[in-house]
Amino acid sequence: MLVIEEKYRPVAELLLPSGTCPRCVLRFCCVGSHAPYQLPYKELADELWKFLASDGDISPPSKKVRLEDSEECKDKAQIPRDVEAPQTCNLCLGILQHLCSPEFVQKILQRIRSAGYEFQDFVFSVSLPAQLLVREHSAWLQAQQEMRKQDHLLQKADIIQLKEAYKWIIHPMISEKLGVQAVSKSLFEVGVVFCHQDTDEDCHFLATVCKDCFKPAKNKQSVFTRMAVVKALDKIKDNDFCIRFPWPPSSPKTACQLVDIQCNHASVFVAGRYNKYSRTLPQTPWVIDGERKMESSVEELITEQLMAVFKVDSFNFSSSGREDVDVRTLGRGRPFAIELVNPHRVQFTKQDMKDLQEEINNSDKIKVRDLQIVSREAVAYMKEGEEEKTKCYSALIWTEKPIGKEDIEFLNDIKELKIIQKTPLRVLHRRPLASRSRIIHTMKAEYVDEHHFRLYLKTQAGTYIKEFAHGDFGRTVPNISSLLKTTADILELDVESVDVDWPPALED
Ligand SMILES: [Zn+2]
Repeated sequence: MLVIEEKYRPVAELLLPSGTCPRCVLRFCCVGSHAPYQLPYKELADELWKFLASDGDISPPSKKVRLEDSEECKDKAQIPRDVEAPQTCNLCLGILQHLCSPEFVQKILQRIRSAGYEFQDFVFSVSLPAQLLVREHSAWLQAQQEMRKQDHLLQKADIIQLKEAYKWIIHPMISEKLGVQAVSKSLFEVGVVFCHQDTDEDCHFLATVCKDCFKPAKNKQSVFTRMAVVKALDKIKDNDFCIRFPWPPSSPKTACQLVDIQCNHASVFVAGRYNKYSRTLPQTPWVIDGERKMESSVEELITEQLMAVFKVDSFNFSSSGREDVDVRTLGRGRPFAIELVNPHRVQFTKQDMKDLQEEINNSDKIKVRDLQIVSREAVAYMKEGEEEKTKCYSALIWTEKPIGKEDIEFLNDIKELKIIQKTPLRVLHRRPLASRSRIIHTMKAEYVDEHHFRLYLKTQAGTYIKEFAHGDFGRTVPNISSLLKTTADILELDVESVDVDWPPALED
């Protein structure tokens, strides 16, 4: 039995004979339970016509045709579960007719299976051509009028959206076959994209009424986006609309075409800490004018394995600061996080991650520890308050004038030294010119010989250490040169620690 409320009878009487499919009629009659939509198409059509006939005073010309259709079908030995509708619906353009059949779902399933994703549930999305909105609007205005005659209201929001109804039909079929649930917040998304070229021009009249709504935008093929059409429909007066888009909308010969079935898995984030032992290894690929300057990079050495194992499309590498190509990173290493985009494999145990870490650590240039899967929010924590964090360095310094014990003691006595740094000359090509202050929290100098000493620094994150040593032509003040009143330069630099307590340390 159908569950259409009696007050919606005029809406059904208006739509069904006009060339609207039974499922769309249910939508406009605000039927909110899923089951009627899932009925086999023919069964639902028969039920609806019975419902209309029960009132006795309707005999639209097309009704006769429909009844003949159904009788013809009943004569056949077997009625297929989803008989093709006699004509394409003038509202959904076949979406709720031909494009939700078990055969169509089979296509979706094939695509999902061949894509080879790991997932525990799924979210389903539908992309519909914009002209459906115009047709929907047209039907709503007519239905609203019918309802008003009996002092009933019909808000646009009361109507069941096409996407909703479509999902009510499709979800159970996919769920059943895959054995997983449809969940709105699933990380695995299956999307179907439809178009309908024959009716593409349905929207065009809107541009003459509401020019402002349709402005060309980058990376949009057409100005008639769903968003723009919604905006224009909101603005256009009912009368104008009805004149320019007369009721009923045309019944096209063919249904919507499937453009694509897309599968995508939300990014997975992997974090850890790395040591870098080479003075000829940049953190990220070093490419100038398309030409590679260094053979590899920290980023590549870490992500190569991850990319292959998680089977991803691409990645984004980020870290808590970075070191120059000739600087080593020692101690417990530098925190990093990698966003793995569209991973096909996502289920990894702690042991899997440990094995993966060991494989990465086959390199003698870098070592990784605490490799783990983290949340997107946790990655933000790494970047949070980065400026306030401290970093420890060890540097080998050369001085022009011979140094003595008193120079070493002088440096050791300095605490919380405030310095001003203009953007260093060597990074001016990629960073804006700015002047900023940084704090050198502590300094400890160790005499090596009369022209060399080792300097241990604890500084605010973001301090340019090389410039603090040589002064960068007076762009960093004060600096080791100016403090010792001689020319000084930095020969070697190591990062000894990055004081960010993330990601959490793992047991070895
Ligand atoms: Zn329809």
